[in-house]
Amino acid sequence: MSHTGSESSPPATTDPNGVSAAAPVGAPATSNGPHGLLREVFGFDSFRGDQQAIIEHIIAGGDCLVIMPTGGGKSLCYQLPALTRPGVAVVVSPLIALMQDQVGALRQLGLKAAFINSTLTPQGARELEQEMVRGGIDLVYVAPERLTQPYFLDLLDQTPLALFAIDEAHCVSQWGHDFRPEYRQLTILHERYPDVPRIALTATADEPTRRDIAERLQLESARRFIASFDRPNITYRVTVRDNPRRQLLRFIQNDHPGEPGIVYCMSRKRTEQIAAWLCAQGITALPYHAGLDAATRQAHQARFLREEGVVIVATIAFGMGIDKPNVRFVAHLDLPRSIEAYYQETGRAGRDGLPADAWMTYGPGDVVVHQQFIDASEAPAEQKRIERDKLNALIGYCETTLCRRQVLLHYFGERYVGPCNRCDTCLMPVERIDGTELAQKALSCVYRTGQRFGAAYIADVLTGAENQRIINAGHDRLSTYGIGRDLPKKRWLSIIRQLLAAGLLEVEPSHGGIRLTEAARPVLQGREVLWLRVDPREPASGNSGVKGQAAGPARGGAPPTAALTGEMQKVLFERLRALRLELSRQQNVPPYVIFSDRTLVEMATSQPRTLEELSGLHGVGRTKLERYGEVFLEAVRAHV
Ligand code: ADP
Ligand code: ZN
Repeated sequence: MSHTGSESSPPATTDPNGVSAAAPVGAPATSNGPHGLLREVFGFDSFRGDQQAIIEHIIAGGDCLVIMPTGGGKSLCYQLPALTRPGVAVVVSPLIALMQDQVGALRQLGLKAAFINSTLTPQGARELEQEMVRGGIDLVYVAPERLTQPYFLDLLDQTPLALFAIDEAHCVSQWGHDFRPEYRQLTILHERYPDVPRIALTATADEPTRRDIAERLQLESARRFIASFDRPNITYRVTVRDNPRRQLLRFIQNDHPGEPGIVYCMSRKRTEQIAAWLCAQGITALPYHAGLDAATRQAHQARFLREEGVVIVATIAFGMGIDKPNVRFVAHLDLPRSIEAYYQETGRAGRDGLPADAWMTYGPGDVVVHQQFIDASEAPAEQKRIERDKLNALIGYCETTLCRRQVLLHYFGERYVGPCNRCDTCLMPVERIDGTELAQKALSCVYRTGQRFGAAYIADVLTGAENQRIINAGHDRLSTYGIGRDLPKKRWLSIIRQLLAAGLLEVEPSHGGIRLTEAARPVLQGREVLWLRVDPREPASGNSGVKGQAAGPARGGAPPTAALTGEMQKVLFERLRALRLELSRQQNVPPYVIFSDRTLVEMATSQPRTLEELSGLHGVGRTKLERYGEVFLEAVRAHV
């Protein structure tokens, strides 16, 4: 173990080989236990959730499987034991971007961390490997494909090993959403180094995937730590898609002006169109998808990480490995694949624990598109069935009249009794009506038109639209033609969507038409009552869901800077932010690895005068105090 913290300023810079250029000058490693290290190194006052139990378990040499939501604080669970256990902690990580971010942040804390990957020169990699064998590194990050190569295992044989951390452990499972076959080879760690503790970590919540991880990584007898999946600082909203661009624009302008966020779209083309359009509206937005060349992707990602208010418009190709803590919103313009995917994606908002928004638009077409997607895939029947179930669960979530947090957590097997007061259904309860008769009209219209048409057509027949297609088909002579005239087409679309969600209707796989299911019968026969939600009337201006209704509590929580009172604190905060940006540019690291927004807000409100006062603030550990304490104090003094 070689935890050292005190390097004298100026701060370390990173050379392209990933070796920390500032050689640590043998600082006295603290003799404190986990609590002391938490304050001294990481600058935090207390452990969160199970962190302490996990850390003690690892320090004592036990294996464990840690399941914690994004932002829960997983990394600390192996980073801290890496400092107390002798030897090198080896962290298996699937993505280069992820390694680089983590290593960058650890070096800011004064730790000896490095990654060994393809971005290094062969010479640079060799030097690091030798350093590792000598035990001169606290934490080394490697990808599974390198770790399991014979040459690397030979090196590990000679290395004093503190622990193995397997990050993003769901990659080992086909049930998860980021299957990486190389993860399967990791069983070798257990076979070859049975005495080295292993900690596998993931934010994947569903039980089959959890079981699969334990089995595949031979962690059946490892202790399991399962945290609550609640993300209390995220506000969930689902809004009916109407004019998605305008809805998105209003959402950003009203609720997150100038703040970083991620917008997810289904297609590459759409990410580019939306990004261009947002730019035209004065928002700094950049597209990101797998079809862009590597340099562009890299550049856009870097701007998102390093500038203050960039919105990235992306396909699902973007996200894993992005641990920018101050993402203030995640917006879905299209329906994600499953609740797991939705939760993973929305989980990228608000890792810093400050208020953030998960916002989605949802329309009836989504269901059809996704069903066809599944049906057209080459996957085996069993897999398709699972995907269809997952899609249905997500539709159920969109259509629910219950607290959304309750539905989400219930899906992950957690009991939660709402209301949470941080989701749209809680903030603006949905009105429900006995919709049996409406449902009967819609269902019989589907039946009489031959169970071959989509939602829009059915709604047209119900409202008696005079369109040529209907006339050609002779459907204007049906008894159901025009029986729903008293309601607008939009309302009928909503009803059909809810019937799909409730499983009374389903999409026929081959042509995408809607047909009845067995479950429709009792409702058609009047033996069962069906409750329907009345979709909230979208306010004329600003229809980002709850926003237009109640100005105050409906907001996704106060922005982080709300704690700043008075012009003076705000100005100071901006100065500190500018200072942070300047320092981060000098070192070519993202601003938040220097200090988080929360730390800057605390500085601006408490205005510390001494290093001692500064050291009590969130995220100010010993190394950061030494590196940045004086400059930030100077900025505060100059201002006050
Ligand atoms: P995860 O990997 O689970 O998504 P991280 O390890 O990135 O989460 O932690 C999320 C955020 O919480 C980080 O900004 C981290 O510094 C912070 N954090 C972790 N543990 C604590 C703690 N005990 N006290 C305060 N902040 C913490
Ligand atoms: Zn709620």
